[in-house]
Amino acid sequence: PGGPGLPRPLLDEFARRLHGRLVLPEDPDYHAARTLWNGMIDRRPACVARCRDEDDVVAAVNFARDNGLPLAVRGGGHGVAGQAVCDGGLVVDLSEMTDVDVDPEGRTVRAQGGCTLADLDRATQRHGLAVPLGVVSATGIAGLTLSGGMGWLRRKYGLSCDNLVSARVVVADGRVLTANADEHQDLFWAIRGGGGNFGVVTSFEYRLHPVGPEVFLCNVYYPQEHAAEVLRACERHLADVPGEAAPLGVLGRIPAVEAFPEAVHGKPFVALLAVSCAAGEGAAEEGERALRPLRQITEPLCDLSEAVSCVQAQTFLDEDYPDGMFYYWKAVNAPGLGDELIERLTAHAAAAPSPDSTIDVWYQGGAMARVAEHETAFANRGAPYLFGIEANWAQEADSERNLAWVRETFADLRRFSTGGVYLNFPGFLEEGTQLLRAGYGGNYERLSAVKAAYDPGNLFRFNANIQPSAR
Ligand code: FAD
Repeated sequence: PGGPGLPRPLLDEFARRLHGRLVLPEDPDYHAARTLWNGMIDRRPACVARCRDEDDVVAAVNFARDNGLPLAVRGGGHGVAGQAVCDGGLVVDLSEMTDVDVDPEGRTVRAQGGCTLADLDRATQRHGLAVPLGVVSATGIAGLTLSGGMGWLRRKYGLSCDNLVSARVVVADGRVLTANADEHQDLFWAIRGGGGNFGVVTSFEYRLHPVGPEVFLCNVYYPQEHAAEVLRACERHLADVPGEAAPLGVLGRIPAVEAFPEAVHGKPFVALLAVSCAAGEGAAEEGERALRPLRQITEPLCDLSEAVSCVQAQTFLDEDYPDGMFYYWKAVNAPGLGDELIERLTAHAAAAPSPDSTIDVWYQGGAMARVAEHETAFANRGAPYLFGIEANWAQEADSERNLAWVRETFADLRRFSTGGVYLNFPGFLEEGTQLLRAGYGGNYERLSAVKAAYDPGNLFRFNANIQPSAR
């Protein structure tokens, strides 16, 4: 047996054709192969193709299509909704495809579709260069880039997808296409914000920027009762200083871990986190000066800011998101930070059932807002704020309470929103088409036409799914 309706000889023949391994339910590593970062997800695929190269990806796409199997695609396996695995189908697993090839002179890098942020950062920082990525290094570049990609460099150098120069994509009929400014331009437009709807991206080529190697990490925690003062001071600072730092405001409770002084454990905080984006000698000092005002707003609970390597800055949040815990997130755009909104943010943060949960305030604008709304498929880029609502908890028994907290907070914060949502953060998309439409905004119709051109049968559907338009 290998899954519903799949004769063994067929599976054996497919396994022989692969350069990588085909993992089946009876294999000792099947459980590991179907397990994702988010402990909420428990799905049982018929088989997992551990692809070693592009030929394997083509073989897997053809096998799934020809045999009518559901097809899921796994990059870094950190999608919050857990759509990288599916029940009863084939998983195209790219986690062994992690080659990175840096061209320091040309200031570009090519990275295979299974790379994590850490894979890319380590390789590019050897040359003092960086791609704008996200803020947790174990996450995948694939999911990140295909739905946008926001990190510490977003206000200076744009989103991850804004720095994509070219990609190789295995589309539903098994062709391998190059998508860039000259070839398959419609596909290139669509994969910069349209998620995994159009095919399996086997490699991404990005533009590089000089950053670091030393940077300054702003990591300061204020008492949460000063949330309005702190969040607004940060807003004013960004308006006054053109350095284009991209702070993240976080509302939560100080964890009882060694990194924080014991006296502040458990205290509600509003934190400002940011990483300087200067390069070369003296970059960390320059960054310290630029970010200093964010650390002097009022008396902090504690200030863990320091000069670090760029690679360290890219990993300092990693330990907050261990594998196998339970996660359920949503994110909504907003036009400003009014009094009532900040009052609601603090009230919801205080009501979180889990001490590990946070509400995050992403300061947008800068380079990401200078790209026109329809230039790429990524929508809602002009909104000045994005609020992330993150329930993170340890015990399965607490799931209902945590899901309810996210849903209530999301529904309430949407009253203050521009309508947009960010599709890289949502947990299950139980809100259906309404949430998807909000995520793709005015780009949905065009995305739907590109979907019809490259995936009319909706083979790639375990994602923020776009329906192919009728042709
Ligand atoms: P996966 O679960 O492997 O895939 C996610 C989706 O993309 C699935 O639909 C999958 O089928 C599809 N997909 C994956 N690989 C491919 C491919 N090669 N070709 C086609 N489709 C593919 N986002 C930000 O913008 N900024 C952040 O700072 C940030 N921080 C995060 C921190 C944590 C701890 C987590 C869990 C997420 C964070 N995110 C952030 C969101 C993150 O970018 C998304 O969850 C993203 O989808 C993860 O990509 P992945 O490849 O790891 O996911």
